[in-house]
Amino acid sequence: MNWNVLAEKSLKGSALSSSEAASVLEAPEEQLLALIDAAYSVRRHYFGKRVKLNFLLNAKSGLCPEDCFYCSQSKLSKAGIEKYPFMSENEILAAAGRAVEAHAKRFCMVNSGRGPSDSEIEQISSGVKKVKEKFPQLEVCVCLGLLKEEQGKALKSCGVDAYNHNLNTTPKHYSEICTTHTYDDRIQTVEVAKSCGMSSCSGCLFGMGEKDSDILELAATFRKVNVDSIPINFLIPIEGTPLEKMRQLTPQKCLKILCLFRFMNPSSEIRIAGGREFHLRWLQPLGLYVANSIFIGDYLTTKGQKPEADLAMIRDLGFEIEGETGMGWDEKKSLDEEFAVRLK
Ligand code: SF4
Repeated sequence: MNWNVLAEKSLKGSALSSSEAASVLEAPEEQLLALIDAAYSVRRHYFGKRVKLNFLLNAKSGLCPEDCFYCSQSKLSKAGIEKYPFMSENEILAAAGRAVEAHAKRFCMVNSGRGPSDSEIEQISSGVKKVKEKFPQLEVCVCLGLLKEEQGKALKSCGVDAYNHNLNTTPKHYSEICTTHTYDDRIQTVEVAKSCGMSSCSGCLFGMGEKDSDILELAATFRKVNVDSIPINFLIPIEGTPLEKMRQLTPQKCLKILCLFRFMNPSSEIRIAGGREFHLRWLQPLGLYVANSIFIGDYLTTKGQKPEADLAMIRDLGFEIEGETGMGWDEKKSLDEEFAVRLK
């Protein structure tokens, strides 16, 4: 397969045919670099060398009545995680400060639960206003579960920039990962968030027993749903969750999934989200030739790579952090020192 033909098609705004899309997932290992190079030409066209950094805050943890099999915060989970109600405004402001220090452009606040109560919407709105006052340069995204229209309007009016709600998997596979809500509930929330004027962020979670046909269907679905950012998560099989033994992905497969999503959704932000370190491991830098966005810092209930390592990876690739003109020499020097210490 000449992967550049797929890149040209993508750049012209055409969808890949079913057989072309399937060939991406089936690409032989010796063609992986050529495939990534083709996907990089699409990434470069829309995003240049920019990498967008996003910082996650689990603002309310655990105690969720839903049964998402992959989630350490569900009612089924026996994972030893911290459980706490919605954080205080001071805690939220402190986390936003850490996001700025880590060079994040977007601050993503996540609440466990099926959906927010009206009093939670009031609390969150007040927290968002404070964050916006103190750090006007930060984009704020919230992820609160299933959303009603009036709640979406309230969030938009208090300054929320984006709403995240992942589709995760296909309608056919959905009952294998959750029984307390449906794929249709999720798609409805994505539409509500869009109709309220918030930027739409919705993605997938791979490595939960889905078939290649599910991956192909999802890449095409996101093209239709047309969201601004697509976080691609790879399952972190957390001990104590029903999917703790699931091991389905290889680093190469993750890269092929990213390439497929880039070709099918050329101008959307593609974010390598949860599971980046666990699944891509030493191939993480290759992922950034395809995706233009990552989380920096920790995930909801699991640790991420040290921010210094992510910043060094971006610098070594010759990429730039979105919203910055580039790193100063002092910062470069301190990163070099950090690595010298680690290599000892
Ligand atoms: S609704 Fe959200 S917090 Fe609750 S179990 Fe599902 S993913 Fe976890």
